[in-house]
Amino acid sequence: MKWYPQKLAAGESAETIYNLLLFARTPKKVDEIIGNESWTQEFCQECRNYSKDVLEFTDEDNKHIYTVCISCIKKSLINL
Ligand SMILES: [Zn+2]
Repeated sequence: MKWYPQKLAAGESAETIYNLLLFARTPKKVDEIIGNESWTQEFCQECRNYSKDVLEFTDEDNKHIYTVCISCIKKSLINL
């Protein structure tokens, strides 16, 4: 893999961050390396918030994926 000499927001090179991520064992460690939670959270299309606990639903062709957080799923089950 060829690395370009760019510096990321944290001041580390892309290669350094890649090497740190190779040994990250938990989502919390990934958050620390990246500097935010963007790699460990998904966007809930129901409440439009980010969450670490989501389910993905898809159609038969896997063309459309709908992501819903656990909180929204619980709310929908209470309303049944
Ligand atoms: Zn939600």
